[in-house]
Amino acid sequence: MNTLQDLITNSDNIVFFGGAGTSTESGIPDFRSVDGLYNMHYDYPPETILSHDFFMEKPKEFFQFYHEKIMDKKAQPNAAHIKLAQLEKAGKLKAIITQNIDGLHQAAGSQNVWELHGSVHRNHCRKCGKFYDGSFVQHADTIPFCSCGGIIKPDVVLYGEGLDEEVLSRSIDAIKNCDVLIVGGTSLSVYPAAGLIRYYHGDKLVLINKSVTPYDKYANLCINDAIGKVLSAITI
Ligand code: ZN
Repeated sequence: MNTLQDLITNSDNIVFFGGAGTSTESGIPDFRSVDGLYNMHYDYPPETILSHDFFMEKPKEFFQFYHEKIMDKKAQPNAAHIKLAQLEKAGKLKAIITQNIDGLHQAAGSQNVWELHGSVHRNHCRKCGKFYDGSFVQHADTIPFCSCGGIIKPDVVLYGEGLDEEVLSRSIDAIKNCDVLIVGGTSLSVYPAAGLIRYYHGDKLVLINKSVTPYDKYANLCINDAIGKVLSAITI
């Protein structure tokens, strides 16, 4: 913890790369954790439901699951989100790259956030392209329809869809050019997380994750604990 505090105190060019573990302390389930979505009982596995083909073929079933399990109406930023927003405000943190789609970093006040898998707060009509916010989709009766009659699709990267090129290249730039890279709440097993870390060439790679990851041995500092607990102990 002292080493982490020193790294943060002495840097004004920190980048945070976060995964599902950053949001589990806000009550959002981790797809791949033991208590996560994969242990729930639906007619189809979550990976199937959250795929592009399933969205196209069975939008009603997709949105039933999406409303129940993906759009969490009550989730609030936790200690990790709040500390990261404070670090950005203090001019120390340059960017957040996240695999989460819940928008909790922005809710905590973070500005420079690259969302690799999109966001539940942005939605567009598939027919005319009109924008709708998260609340519109949340209050829709199962399938959200545009005023033109088209189905509204969340700007969330589904299985079988590619990542946004600009978000990806901005994320790579941020990682390449940072001084301290803090990777938190991810087992680094999900594409493209592990690949992105390779763009970091510094010697201040910090991994914070509850369980061990295959990348622990490459880290300059490794803390196996909950990200919110670790970050809340940092003073700015
Ligand atoms: Zn439309």
